Amino acid sequence: MANAIDTISQTVGSQTVGSKTMGSKTMGSKTTDPATTSPATADAMHDRHGRRIDYLRISVTDRCDLRCRYCMSETMQFLPRREILTLEEIAIIAARFIARGVRRIRLSGGEPLVRRDFVDLARTLGRHVTSGALDELTLTTNGTQLARHAQMLADIGMRRINVSLDALDPAIFAHITRGGDVAQVLEGLEAARTAGLKVKLNTVALRGVNQDQLLPLLHYCEDRGFDLTLIETMPLGQIEQARADQYLPLSEAIEPIRAAYDFTPLDYRTGGPARYFALSGLKTRLGLITPLSENFCAGCNRMRLTCQGRIYMCLGHEAHVDLKAAFRERGVAGIDALLDRALATKPLAHDFSVARGASPATQRHMNVTGG
Ligand code: SAM
Repeated sequence: MANAIDTISQTVGSQTVGSKTMGSKTMGSKTTDPATTSPATADAMHDRHGRRIDYLRISVTDRCDLRCRYCMSETMQFLPRREILTLEEIAIIAARFIARGVRRIRLSGGEPLVRRDFVDLARTLGRHVTSGALDELTLTTNGTQLARHAQMLADIGMRRINVSLDALDPAIFAHITRGGDVAQVLEGLEAARTAGLKVKLNTVALRGVNQDQLLPLLHYCEDRGFDLTLIETMPLGQIEQARADQYLPLSEAIEPIRAAYDFTPLDYRTGGPARYFALSGLKTRLGLITPLSENFCAGCNRMRLTCQGRIYMCLGHEAHVDLKAAFRERGVAGIDALLDRALATKPLAHDFSVARGASPATQRHMNVTGG
């Protein structure tokens, strides 16, 4: 059944989206589809370093129902609603990115599943997968709302999701998330499995907090046919604890896993920055994301759209272009001009440092840019 976002995309088509009625069902009148219209149709995007950019991450909200200590400060200020792109705007902007060569989209946040009517956006974007315009639509979620949404995600054409889970132990989970209930996430994971979604767990390694959880998490994944990716904590935004105290290089974090299993590097890739390994005797693939200890920017294919309508070409830099204003004034033409400008600003690499006393790489926290 058509939802409000579809109705807009179909009736508007939307070379004229810049009209004042943005977000209503009466926007514009032309019927050109932004996902298939020139000038840039089929032109792959490349940055000035020659990297092909075909992966878009969208932060659909900066709000979240957890407060992970490494992600947010205890007193996070969230963006006022009027500053946030409507879901209709996100759908139209995403369609234009697809026309410019984006082949994969990951929905993130904040917690995407807490945004009201998220299902409408997911369904609309899912149609780009069905039509072949997009190779893949995926989601990163904390899993707390997954029990309610897993079947819907499978129904709209999502094949795999990432679920963030830093501990199985209820007390450690509650500590990291400042009050979260791990049982909700585990229930969500079962629902995802039942719905036939391919699941990868994302676990941030935190010194002195969850290193002893990594083997149990690996075995949990093995029992359920999930993959597991470990991530080094990045210095994004000010938090209460010193990043230097939290930071655990993955070479050290995986010591207990190395002691139990042989590692064999795999060619397997999911479009993201993880390098994967097979572990002797296990089906679960182990991914490692090492933004600090082993920079992977040379192969970066990503751009990010925030819920306030900014394009960031790098998670670790402040440089951005403000798409929202241009889009609301000039419609799809405004997107194209700014996309070109954004491509020209993509830095070669982030330069994260967690040295004691170092400032965060960015003022904004991960929930704003989308993980
Ligand atoms: N709420 C969703 C979730 O929890 O998966 C999506 C947003 S969350 C910001 C995306 C991912 O970023 C999570 O896996 C989270 O653990 C990770 N993350 C957040 N802050 C981080 C940081 N400073 N360094 C490394 N990973 C971080």
